[in-house]
Amino acid sequence: MTQLSTALKGGITPEMEYVAAREKLTAEFVRQGVAAGTIVIPRNIRRQNMSPTGIGKGLKTKVSASVGLYGSKGNIETELAKIRTAVEAGTDSIMDLSVSGDIDAMRKESLTATMTPLGTLPYYQAVAQTAQKYGSSLKMEVEQLFEVIEREAADGVDFMALHCGTTMSAVERAKQEGRLDPLVSYGGSHLIGWMLHNRRENPLYEHYDRVLDIARKYDVTVSLADGMRPGCLADSLDGAQVQEMVVMGELVRRAREAGVQVMVKGPGHVPLSQLKATVTLQQSLCQGAPYFVFGPVVTDIAAGYDHISAAIGGAISAWAGAGFLCYVTPAEHIGLPDVDQVHEGVVAARIAAHAADLAKGLPGAAKWDLALSRARKALDWQKQIDLAIDPGRAEKIKKTRSDDSVAGCAMCGKYCAMEIVAKYLGTARVSC
Ligand code: SF4
Repeated sequence: MTQLSTALKGGITPEMEYVAAREKLTAEFVRQGVAAGTIVIPRNIRRQNMSPTGIGKGLKTKVSASVGLYGSKGNIETELAKIRTAVEAGTDSIMDLSVSGDIDAMRKESLTATMTPLGTLPYYQAVAQTAQKYGSSLKMEVEQLFEVIEREAADGVDFMALHCGTTMSAVERAKQEGRLDPLVSYGGSHLIGWMLHNRRENPLYEHYDRVLDIARKYDVTVSLADGMRPGCLADSLDGAQVQEMVVMGELVRRAREAGVQVMVKGPGHVPLSQLKATVTLQQSLCQGAPYFVFGPVVTDIAAGYDHISAAIGGAISAWAGAGFLCYVTPAEHIGLPDVDQVHEGVVAARIAAHAADLAKGLPGAAKWDLALSRARKALDWQKQIDLAIDPGRAEKIKKTRSDDSVAGCAMCGKYCAMEIVAKYLGTARVSC
């Protein structure tokens, strides 16, 4: 029985108990969320040694880091180092989005390299395999695609991004609307190329029941990926994106009826003014299914700093109701991230997630900030460093940019406001 089926019958799984303990909530709260579909706990029944993580309403906002083999320079060791870096930086999940090389080996290594939930996008492997075998991914047979989905599920993948809602009618609408960047989703663009070339409907939509059968067999959480993801602000919230979201809403309902946990993947590139509307629309059309947004970046001009642009969008999206933030690294739109950029991307996404949890008034979220504020007032530098979201970065700056001759820091030196306030207002520095 899947976790969703168990929850619907009033049962509480060990995963629900584990998530409840981590979130300091009751197991019944988590069960109700899973039963309603507003919380998912991605955990394949074949997955060994992992820490179940809850995503969705009433839980802390989660972040995900993506790694994978790309092009001729990709190698498994480098990507495993990125996984370790992302986990150390506090990611809640990893996605292996390999598109080339030994994808099976990469997935298996990834599953043992982290205790976090692991997600994949099987269409990538289907594309790579078909291109290798026939010279073109356009020759992919539907059976090959489902063979890959089953193989990845049998290996223990906890959640899968699948473009099941990218229908021919949404593609036609995108063509009519004259998008600036028609398609930017890697998997979506290959899938749509296949659909147009072969003049066939999306097999993941046409055979959705088969997708659900595999997902139910291994209790894989389906992440409905958005092939119509806008690739620039100018295309945000257009008809093609909304049309796909309407279809995703139907697919969410069918997944739940089949006992399969489901979340919905989202943009991408969204202007600040449309963030709330985008999340509200998704939550309404997809009946509160957790929203897994990619950033989103709020301006197209931040190349080199897209992790900051994404953190702005991620914070507001999560405040509006998105439960899961896919990180964006400083290398986004330019190249593959190195380990340092992976670290920066995870930290930026975590700041966004925490800022949203504070704004939502999530129980306990403010405690962390309060503790750091007290340490700051007390000029307790070690405690400030320990409590910082990235202690290593804080410590490095303190060591290299400090002025040991003053109690404060090198910023105001002997005119440290904390010192002055303590001296003249009698609010002696307090120890936390
Ligand atoms: S010197 Fe200025 S910046 Fe540094 S701790 Fe004191 S008040 Fe803060």
